[in-house]
Order: sequence, then C-alpha cells, then structure tokens
Amino acid sequence: MALSIALSLFRKHRRAAHYCACHECDLLVAVPSLQEGDQASCPRCGNLLALLPKYPLQRPLVYALTSLIMLLCANFLPFLAINAKGLANSMTLFQAASVLFDEDYRILSVIVYLCMQLLPACCLLLVCYLYGSYRYLHHPPRFAEQACRWLFRLLPWSMVEVFLVGVLVSLIKIASLADVSIGNGFWCFVVFCLMFIKSVVHLDKTWMWDLIKGPLRPQHPMQEGVGALAQGVTPCHGCGALLSVQLHQCPRCGHAVHPRTPESIQRCVALLLAACVLYLPANLLPIMVTETLGSETYSTILGGVVLLWNMGSYPVAMVIFVASVVVPIAKILSLFWLCYTVGSHDNHHKRGRTRLYRLTEFVGRWSMVDVFVVAILVALIRMGKLMSIYPGAAAMAFAAVVVVTMLAAMQFDPRLIWDGEHLNKDLNRE
Ligand SMILES: [Zn+2]
Ligand SMILES: [Zn+2]
Repeated sequence: MALSIALSLFRKHRRAAHYCACHECDLLVAVPSLQEGDQASCPRCGNLLALLPKYPLQRPLVYALTSLIMLLCANFLPFLAINAKGLANSMTLFQAASVLFDEDYRILSVIVYLCMQLLPACCLLLVCYLYGSYRYLHHPPRFAEQACRWLFRLLPWSMVEVFLVGVLVSLIKIASLADVSIGNGFWCFVVFCLMFIKSVVHLDKTWMWDLIKGPLRPQHPMQEGVGALAQGVTPCHGCGALLSVQLHQCPRCGHAVHPRTPESIQRCVALLLAACVLYLPANLLPIMVTETLGSETYSTILGGVVLLWNMGSYPVAMVIFVASVVVPIAKILSLFWLCYTVGSHDNHHKRGRTRLYRLTEFVGRWSMVDVFVVAILVALIRMGKLMSIYPGAAAMAFAAVVVVTMLAAMQFDPRLIWDGEHLNKDLNRE
C-alpha cells in the first residue's frame, strides 16, 4: 500500500502520439508522444497544439488551492486605505464592485465582480474538483464532463491580472492626491493573481477530455500536412477531438460540430459595428466625475490621459493611453481588415494574419484596465465634499466595448484565412 502510494507520487505521465487539427489553420498534424514538460506547436502557424506540463495533475491543483486561500484572505483583510487632510477612508476588495452597485451602476458592478473575483474563483474550484479527483481518487469525479466544459468556457472571462494592473495604476493616480497605505489584503491579492496564472497557464482541454472519456481515434487513415476539412474531419471546439464533418454533435463532449464557425464573418462584423457605435459615448462622455471642495470636474478617457501626462506620470499615462485608446481601435480595425481579406479571398500573408488574430485575441481583455481603475477610485475616494469620485456614463459604454470586441474576436474563425490552401504548399515554403 505504502509502496503503491510512493510509486504513484513519482509516476510520470506520458501523452500518446495522436493526430490533431490546428484550431487556427486547420492543418492536420501527427503529434508525437509527449513526455512531461513537452509541448507541440503547429508547423504552419505556430499555434500551440498540445502540451504536457511537469506534474500535470499536482501543479494546477496546488496552485489553485493556494490561490483560493489567498483570495479568501484578500476579501477579509483591509485592501487599501487613504488619508487626505486628516480625513481617512479604506476599502475592501469586495467594495471595488459593491460601491458601483450602490451608485446605481449595477450592470457594471456585476461585470467588475464577475471578471475580478467570481469567475476566477469558479475556475479555481473546478480545477480543484477535477484535478484533485484524478490525483487522489484516480477516477473521474461525478460531474467531470460538466466541470471540464464550464472550466474552459469561463477561463477567457477571468481577468485577475488586468484587475491587478488596474490597482497599480489607481495607486499611482491616488498617490498625487492623498497618502495611500496598502493593506495585507492587497498583498494576498497579488499572490492570488500569481498563483491563479500559474494554475491555469498549463491547463490543456484535450488532455483533460482524454482523461475523462478516453481518446477518440479517427475512423480512417489520415494524411498529415493536409487541411483537416479536405480529409472530411474537423476538430471539436469543445474537446479538441478529431470528428467526421458528417456529425452534428461531438460524441465525447456534446459540443455542436461545425467545420467552420457558422456565419463567422457576418457575426464578427455585426459585433464590430456595435463596438464602433458604443465607442463614441465611451470616449465623448465622462468616465468619472471628481468632486473637490464642492466643485465637480468631469473627465473623459483622453482627458484623464492628458491630466496624467501633465502631472508627470508618463508611464501611467502611456499605459492608460495604450490600453484604453490604442488597443480598442487597433483591435476593431484589425478584425475589420481580417474579415475583409477573408471575404475578398486574399491569399497573402496568411501566417502574419493568423498572428495578428492571435495578438488581437490576447490584448483585447487589457482594455478593461480603465474600467477597473474607475471602480477602485470610486470605492476608495469617498470623503464627502472634500474629495469624492463618482463613475461616469462612459464607464459602462467602455466596458461594453471591451466585452463586444472580445465576443467579435471569438466569432472570427481564423481557419477561414487558410481555406483553399493546396497540399503542403505552405509547409514546404515556410
Ligand atoms: Zn496551425
Ligand atoms: Zn468534443
């Protein structure tokens, strides 16, 4: 018994060789057997295809547990406090969302709370449930399929690292107005963020589904270096299994099977147009209102950047300018251009366009920084007529721009860029 426990502690995981279709360029790749610490990338577009981190069950579990404990502490310990002209105020982590709720910005308050705390906590609990069951019970837990489905659905909306940058930017903004003291809750939150990232960075959806339901093998021989669709198969978006295009539903995870995202370009363009409409009030209306000694100052996003620049906070001004002005515009323009090139059957720069799409998808969430900064300033600077900050209408519009552009990027199917590719042409050239 003791020997088997000792052996199971040191048992190395292996991931068997398998066929895999790239989710970004549809190339069919024969992935060799992976040892712990290995990862495989697509030879055509560079997308990560499969990975097996060291201690693949233990590591996410340990980091997730530490992260959850730190989140609990961050909620109960003082987060930030300020002192200005003898008046003091403090805030807890929860108040970053709840004060917005009291100010009648209820939807914004819910979005902030979901992104910075509730969804990350759900993801961590699901990691503990799934990975803990496999590590210590050696069999799938009762609701393994539902847990795995929800874990990978919620992950893109967890923005703990963006919230942390929002807190740091707020600290620099406040430092010029009042004395700030950092509570233990803040340090717990920093550790929570680091542990959260460490826990989720090595999760692999396909590997987890292989553990839960066993690997799905293709029914007929496959030829690598050729598009998957040309061979009548497509990767499942829910679990990564290679499925026949004849199927309507994945037999392993229940996800609907579509060789390409249905009406990908039309949906993406519609969401981008909605983002453009929302972008106007987000920039023209005030994002926050500052009340100092009875007089109110309204500041827009750009006004805030100019103010920070004039105060000499150049790095923070640059961060806000890039995150709130450059990123949303660049993201909307890039997606419009990608849709246009796909619609006009452009055959150039396929690899470059796929990289641009990947970058667009990665940076989109960082625009939430300014929304989080407003949430923190509103919760912390509440000293009546002496100095108080209230949210402005643009905060809601701006959060909507970020959410809508993230949805637009999710709707765009990057495999459309590569459709019509001939056998091995790109592999041989690049
Ligand atoms: Zn690829
Ligand atoms: Zn599936």
